[in-house]
Amino acid sequence: MVKITFLGSCREVGRSAILVESKNGDQCVLDYGVRFTDNDRLPFETDLNNLKAIALTHCHIDHSGAIPFLYKKKKHLPLLTNCVTLDIIEKLINDMLRISKYPYPFGYHELNHMVNNTFFLKNEIRHKIADDFYLTFYDAGHVPGSVSILVEVDGKRLLYTGDINNTKTNLVNSANASQIPKIDTVIVESTYALKEHPPRAELEQDFVEEVLDITENGGNVLVPAFGVARSQEAVMILDKYQYNGNIYIDGMAKLISKIYYNHPDTLKDKTYYKKALKKVKFADGIKKKKEYLKKHSVIISPSGMLKGGSALKYIKPILDDYKSAIFMVGYQVEGTPGRNLLENKIFEFKEFDEKRNTNYDLNIEAKCKVKHFDFSSHADGRGLQDYINNLNFISNGKQIFCVHGDQESTTNLASKLVDKHYNSVAPEIGEVYSL
Ligand SMILES: [Zn+2]
Ligand SMILES: [Zn+2]
Repeated sequence: MVKITFLGSCREVGRSAILVESKNGDQCVLDYGVRFTDNDRLPFETDLNNLKAIALTHCHIDHSGAIPFLYKKKKHLPLLTNCVTLDIIEKLINDMLRISKYPYPFGYHELNHMVNNTFFLKNEIRHKIADDFYLTFYDAGHVPGSVSILVEVDGKRLLYTGDINNTKTNLVNSANASQIPKIDTVIVESTYALKEHPPRAELEQDFVEEVLDITENGGNVLVPAFGVARSQEAVMILDKYQYNGNIYIDGMAKLISKIYYNHPDTLKDKTYYKKALKKVKFADGIKKKKEYLKKHSVIISPSGMLKGGSALKYIKPILDDYKSAIFMVGYQVEGTPGRNLLENKIFEFKEFDEKRNTNYDLNIEAKCKVKHFDFSSHADGRGLQDYINNLNFISNGKQIFCVHGDQESTTNLASKLVDKHYNSVAPEIGEVYSL
């Protein structure tokens, strides 16, 4: 009998980790991420003595951040992923260890072991990890390099979606459920199960029109986007609608843009990406900040929720200028400075941190325009239902596990699917199910 143990991302977004075990006792972990809480940042602890491989859906820290921990006891354990994802997680986990105050029970030594044990899988090619135990990657449409994982074990087929997006974006191809072979079970993400994203084309057009309106009238636009994927998507949208003003990118977004440039096959259209990137200037040091702002520019600079990062270098003069704007292009979690700015038009941020080399004590009322554009890289409620409808199930069981969403989103999606005669549930952490 095949066993699935939910080690994380149960009724929460964070520490994604799923253990699959064959009847012989061979084990495979799908994702092994962290969550950013005060305690218990790592996945649920369990016996992993017979671990044959760890397979990673994509680079985000909530899926990858705790992987080095698995190399504490085991020096040789294959990490199955692809080249672009490895390049990014090396950087992200390194940064996480460097700036975190949390005492992670692993460090650079284990991160090194992880990097040295990596094997690259091509999408849609089956890979054997143990007897009667195979994995295949399929495009997930979330960020460049993101995959869903099909696990074939003891004659059962289980699909783990990871984070998916089946709406059209500019940077990556969207997830396509109909290309997945017939399955018995699916573990599906539920991040935006209760949300409906606005129509993409209109949103893109609105964004560029508003950017034009600000820059042509003598202001600057700060886009505090996530460095991974969202910054590059913003660049491509501006290019798509022939925005010809000055665009600068800064911070982590510069590095990730270069990584994507070096892995063009992970992109939807490499020619289009390279063309769009050519129009962008890579910001060069804090001293030139004033020069960029004089040019009525668009500055794309992380972090996405204004919790730090290079965006803070620009924020003061922009907040103070009624002609300028801050356009947020990602979800703003409650309690973050980004959310506060959006809701109350006040930017409040305090941080003195030697590791980050920061010294901020800001409490500024925004004179500039502040707006949110929902350029999500996750499927919304309708998208998730469409995705599931397009999956082919082998048996009548149609088993579905809803993870990677808060309590309300996971349980709501599970009960909607029960109404459609699926056998679905929102598992709790540590729960074990048999297939
Ligand atoms: Zn993700
Ligand atoms: Zn995620």
